[in-house]
Amino acid sequence: MIKPTLIQQFRVEPGTKVNLKQYVTDWTATDNAQELGKDVIKERAREILEENRKELATAQELLYASDTHSVLLIFQAMDAAGKDGTIRHVMSGVNPQGCQVYSFKKPSAEELDHNFLWRYMKALPERGRIGIFNRSYYEDVLVVKVHPEWLGPGQPANPDDKFWEQRYEDINNFEKHLSRNGTLVLKFFLHVSKGEQKRRFLERLNNPDKHWKFSESDMAEREHWKDYQKAFEDALCATSTKRAPWYVIPADRKYVARALVADIATTAIQDLGLEYPKVAAEKLARLEAARAQLENKPNDDKAGA
Ligand code: ATP
Ligand code: MG
Repeated sequence: MIKPTLIQQFRVEPGTKVNLKQYVTDWTATDNAQELGKDVIKERAREILEENRKELATAQELLYASDTHSVLLIFQAMDAAGKDGTIRHVMSGVNPQGCQVYSFKKPSAEELDHNFLWRYMKALPERGRIGIFNRSYYEDVLVVKVHPEWLGPGQPANPDDKFWEQRYEDINNFEKHLSRNGTLVLKFFLHVSKGEQKRRFLERLNNPDKHWKFSESDMAEREHWKDYQKAFEDALCATSTKRAPWYVIPADRKYVARALVADIATTAIQDLGLEYPKVAAEKLARLEAARAQLENKPNDDKAGA
């Protein structure tokens, strides 16, 4: 597992102003990391991912058996930051029946006719499950903050600061409600640099097998890079809380991002201190009787197997 002191540097402390330039996008370029060398880090990151995959599977089984909590993992990022790949790798060891992934796209007309949290509420994980939001209600203070004209009917044409502050407040209250009702909420911002996004877009354009991944709207949104970074900074500052913290994950190296997310999620679930339900004495007696019956009664099929 990764040392908690290292993890701490990626967590947004509640109430602190966020300047994304102060968070690294390429962790392998930091002084500490350079001493180790990229190959060592890559290998270590793979090992951490592997260890956590197994531990996450065990933690999820316990989550399911104890049936007292649920877990919500939220992923937000600029395009091509690696949300899909991170989700796929981190969750690959978990029983598919124990987790649900929802990817949120542009809201439908029906969704826009409801309050902005409505469609997300319907997708929340039930007790015992891990729910993953690939994009989330944070889009409603990110993409639409950059493009207020996409807010939908009934919303102000020129939303002021108060409008956004009220949305942050709604989100904080919503997450408080979830937390009080047994949902562990963890939020990951995959922090990719503009240069690395360019490299990944070019890779998609240069490789015919990856053309399907490229969307022209990704290019248009790249033009608004600064506005998005500012919207992220405001949102992370306003909504990182003790109950539902934000982590700014360096995402220029996919293996670093995956290892960090896997470690943070696994540790947080383990820290819930869940236990397998204790079976009542009466039921234990019935289990004992069933065992005796199975052991003592001869098989009645001919093969005797
Ligand atoms: P991919 O990796 O497949 O590109 P994606 O998450 O980028 O995954 P897209 O279908 O490309 O999926 O994009 C979804 C789009 O929907 C994004 O541009 C996102 O900003 C937009 N979107 C999501 N939620 C909202 C919302 N509440 N209001 C407006 N736009 C939204
Ligand atoms: Mg996209």
